[in-house]
Amino acid sequence: LIVFYFGNGYLTVVGFTVTAGTIYAYNTYLTGIIEPVGVLFREIGNLQHSLVRTERIFKVIDGEQEDDSFEVLPRVNGNIKFDNVWFSYVEGQPVLKGVSFDIKENSMVGIVGHTGSGKSTLMNLLLRFYDFKSYDSGRIFIDDVDITTHSKRSYRKDIGIILQDPMLFTGTLADNIKFGANISDEEAIEILKSVGGESLLNKLPNGIHEEMTRGGKNMSIGERQIISFARVIAHNPRILIMDEATANIDTETETMIQNALEKVKKGRTLIVIAHRLSTIKSAN
Ligand code: ATP
Ligand code: MG
Repeated sequence: LIVFYFGNGYLTVVGFTVTAGTIYAYNTYLTGIIEPVGVLFREIGNLQHSLVRTERIFKVIDGEQEDDSFEVLPRVNGNIKFDNVWFSYVEGQPVLKGVSFDIKENSMVGIVGHTGSGKSTLMNLLLRFYDFKSYDSGRIFIDDVDITTHSKRSYRKDIGIILQDPMLFTGTLADNIKFGANISDEEAIEILKSVGGESLLNKLPNGIHEEMTRGGKNMSIGERQIISFARVIAHNPRILIMDEATANIDTETETMIQNALEKVKKGRTLIVIAHRLSTIKSAN
């Protein structure tokens, strides 16, 4: 536009004295100014990001410190008691309404109920993934000891949990089974076989040294559950909780999981949250 306007004026308008050199210089300066202005605006965007990040850093720093002490408590026997537990995630919408039950040590208990009825919530509370707030009430005991009397770290060591959607981590299968437990590769293989993972093991080209991808996306949910069974047995918990996967599992995997359950229930309190009644047909 500039070239056209001034060029046209130079040729047609009498007394028009702008030279080609001036137009060229003007144009060069103009392009030169665009870049710094662009940078300026990009930096404003960066500044906004930094402000948000700084705010979050301060949130972490200001976060409430939870009791992280680690007392070496004697191994629990595995009696569990819920005493009139009322619990809401959101105030005014109770999920558990006066739940009471008693689980004796070494028994196998099945929990069934509709989706969203609060089965996983029971376990969230037993493991204190959520704590009671002022509008909740009731108490939870393990071996007649209120679970809030010790730090979370010290009482969780005797509880094992197999989640609905088990998590695997980057690393080998062996790493995923050991997960901090002090056992050898051979023991890890033994444990995996004992919970019915033999066919899984044979399928993997590198066996126990097969690399897992983050989240375990290279394994089916059933296989992931078998691996988390092995992981939990490696840590030898006194209370074992299994939250059965809702996703469809084939009959073969189901049999695999049932056999695994039979193996692991000896000498443990076993709580199975089940979606298929066949899983808990041997429950007390
Ligand atoms: P499923 O059989 O599908 O696993 P569930 O019985 O385990 O279901 P819960 O996960 O215990 O169900 O959820 C019980 C209720 O609590 C649901 O209505 C759910 O929407 C609600 N809920 C669960 N977790 C939270 C949370 N973190 N925040 C708010 N509400 C939640
Ligand atoms: Mg659940």
